[in-house]
Formats: sequence, structure tokens, C-alpha cells
Amino acid sequence: MAISSSHHALLLPSPGMGHIIPALELAKRLVTHQIIPKLTFFYTSIKNSTPSKAETLVLQSAIKENLFDLIHLPPLDLTNKVDPHASLESKIAIVTHELPLLFVSTISTMNLNPTIIITDLFLCQLLPLVQNLNLPMFAFVPTNAWLLALGLHSPTLDKQIQGEYVNEIKPISIPGCKTIHPHEIFDMLKDRTHRLYHEFVGACEGAALANGIIVNTFHELEPKTLEALGSGQITKVPVYPVGPIVREPSPSPSPSPSPSSDEGNRSEIVEWLNKQEEESVVYVSLGSGYSMSCEEIKEMALGLELSGNKFIWSVRPTVTKAAHGHYFTAGSENLEKSNSFLDEFHRIQSNGIVITDWAPQMDILKHPSVGGFVSHCGWNSIMESVSCGVPIIGLPLFADQMMNARMLVEDVGNAVQVEVSPSAYMVGSEDLAKAIRKIMDKDDRDGCVIRARAKELKHIAERAWFPDGSAYFELSKIGH
Ligand code: UDP
Repeated sequence: MAISSSHHALLLPSPGMGHIIPALELAKRLVTHQIIPKLTFFYTSIKNSTPSKAETLVLQSAIKENLFDLIHLPPLDLTNKVDPHASLESKIAIVTHELPLLFVSTISTMNLNPTIIITDLFLCQLLPLVQNLNLPMFAFVPTNAWLLALGLHSPTLDKQIQGEYVNEIKPISIPGCKTIHPHEIFDMLKDRTHRLYHEFVGACEGAALANGIIVNTFHELEPKTLEALGSGQITKVPVYPVGPIVREPSPSPSPSPSPSSDEGNRSEIVEWLNKQEEESVVYVSLGSGYSMSCEEIKEMALGLELSGNKFIWSVRPTVTKAAHGHYFTAGSENLEKSNSFLDEFHRIQSNGIVITDWAPQMDILKHPSVGGFVSHCGWNSIMESVSCGVPIIGLPLFADQMMNARMLVEDVGNAVQVEVSPSAYMVGSEDLAKAIRKIMDKDDRDGCVIRARAKELKHIAERAWFPDGSAYFELSKIGH
């Protein structure tokens, strides 16, 4: 079937920067590569909560680019649905349940005439709700094929395993895939008594109705898992590895007399990086949602100091007791308010830059002065690092990050993982400095192999988006 010029896709991402950013990039690629000429991107906010600065920035820039329509769904009203003081997991569970319903009721009042529906894997409970429209439906997985395989296999695991997965003695197996250490399993599957578990398994069941599953990975990163997904043992739905889907770094700043605060921030950072030696700077970011405690900030500051490297550190202050307290509010807080942290930063500031709101991550990673990335191993950060050829110093924290870090260290070969002594409850400065040195020290034998692999992957990733590349080829299948 030829690509139809009348295609109109509706794309519904899951909230959270780690989902919105890659979904916007997917939308851009579908439109600019003329795979789908018209696309409408839906997003929402939580009623009575301020949208995050970071989210506002990325959405505004998509609106400015004017490649597709963006529609703000009515804010999700969680009143009477979840206690305002409930855990983040409970809020995510409710959002996952409510957002597909809100989407369906909103589009039923609009005259959109869609021909394709695309939604995040986490929201695939939508698919049974729109099945009556008789349209091709796609799931988008902004993370990797291994997590997708686990998700698609989770309805089977749900029947096979009696107790909590984390209490299993043997590794958890998925046909044809790397096994999963029970303690590393994806957070949403950790507590079977929690509503989030059932929402996730329900969404993965819904994904079986999709005509295709689009996943942000590429063959060289996960050959075995992609083969297993294509074998029919885990799913009958075709899987399209369209990665790496990452943002392009911003174009060089225009000589505007009054740049926006974000642009000003970026050009200051790039100017500082321009003055540093090649591959001498460590970039540190634990993602969009994670808020570091005072103790963690101290250990990180000391670890950076001990490593002896220059650094750029994007840090979120602690705002709640929850580890990922910034999930819905990434980049909104200003650390200047939290005086207790300032001493650490003042002590180390001659060696680097601390960014307390939102770092221009792709601009930083792409810069030749950056030689390593201390990362929580969120999948977008991994794909960005891979695309820029920067090796990773893994500091996984929650969600799928433990699985991701192990995959990088054991299979992909572009990372080290910071060791945490079993008695410690968090990463210590010495262990952190040791791992950073392994990557940054040009004489370290293992580091040398890891750096070379990171560079090799960069070239493979670049080729994926050539006109005859794998990503372009896989993505083209969606419009057919
Ligand atoms: N990010 C950024 N600036 C920051 C922190 C994060 O641009 O200061 C971006 C990062 O480039 C990535 C996304 O936020 O695209 C984070 O996604 P990831 O999957 O790595 O982690 P999550 O935030 O979902 O834990």
C-alpha cells in the first residue's frame, strides 16, 4: 500500500519529560520524513498544578516549529480520584487510567478525521477504547526492547508467578531474552498489590491489539531481544526499532540582543565548554524527575572533586521525600532557595558548572570537551549519549534504570556502573570518583575499550538515520 497523502495521525504521549521529549521527536520525524503528512499531538496537565518549566519549554519550541498541531487536553482533574498526599506511584496509576478516557471523550467532540492512532505503551489501555474506529493503532515505546519484551510478557508472568517478582529466587525469564534479576525488575512490576502494577499489565495487554509497536532502539544495541520480539514467541505484533530518536542540539545562537533565558543559559555553557580540553569534562544528570537528598548532593560533590575532572552537573533539589519528586514538575525549582546545598556548590564551583533548573543536555553531550556522562541510565539519556559517542558512568536509581545499566555494562559495552557497597544505602564519593576515573583517565585499559565502543556506536547510530538506514526504513513502515 502506498503512503497516503491524507494520513492524519493522533499521538497521545504519557506525561513526564522522559515520555514527552521522545514522543515529540517521533512526531517531528514522521512529519519531516513525510511518512505521515498531518499529525496532532495531545498533551495534558494536572488540574491545579503548575506545568513544569522544562515541559513548557519543549512544548513551546514544538509549537514554534509548527510542524504539527498540538492540542492541550482539558487538565486532568484528580480531585476525588486520589489523595493529594498519595505517593507518586498512585498518581501515575490514576493518570494512566484516566488519560485514555479523557482523550477518547475529547476527540469524540472534534472533527479530526484521523487515519492512525499512536500512543505510549503505558497508555495502551486506550487501544480497546478506540478499536471501534477501525483505524491502524500503534504503540510507542520510548524505552528499550528489553523492557518492551518484559511488558508484553507480563500478562503471562502474572499467571506463572505466584508471589512478588522481587522475591523470586531464580532470574525472571522472557522467551529468547536476557533474564532479569528479580531485584532489578521494572518498578511498575515490583508491588503486585499496587494499582500501578495492574494498570501496567493492563496496558501491555492492550498493546496486543496494536498493528505495530514502535520502539526507540536499534539492532546493534539489542540484537537478541529484537530477534526474540520478531520470533512470535512473545508477541504477534510487528515491532519496529526506529531508534535512536533523540533531539537535535539547538542551532547556534542567533546574535539576538536579548536571548531568552534558556538560550542565554545554553550559550554560557557552550562558551565555558569551548575553553576546556577535549574529552576532559564529565556531565552529570540523574534525569528529569529525580530529586537528590542533601546527603546525596554532598557525596556527588565530593566524588566529582575527588575525580579531579571538570564537570557540568544538572541537579534537582529535594522537594519531596519521594525519589522522583520532580516527575510532573521537572525543571521548575530553583536551587538558590535551598541554602543548605549551597556550601557544596561554592566549594567545587571553580571546577565546573551547576545547573539547577534544566540543562541543554544534547548541546552538552555533543560538545567535544565532554568525555563522560554520569547518568541514572534513563533510556533517553542513554540514547542521547550513544548518539553523541559519550561513554556512561551508570548510577541507576529506579524504574527501568537497573535493567538498562546492566544491559549497557554486560552487552553493549559503552558503560561502567558505579559500585555501591552492600551495606551502603547510597553511592559513596570514593566509588563514584573511581568509576569516573575509569572512563576519564586516558591510561585506563578498560576505559579505553569502553570509550572506543562508545565512538563506534555513535557512527552506527548516525547511519540509522541515513536515507537507507534502519531507523528510517522501520519508521517508513508506519505510513504504509
Ligand atoms: N533532560 C534535559 N535537561 C536536564 C535533565 C534532563 O534536557 O537538565 C532531558 C534529557 O536530555 C532526556 C530527558 O530529559 O531527554 C530525560 O529522560 P530520561 O529517559 O533520560 O530520564 P527520566 O527523566 O525519564 O528519568
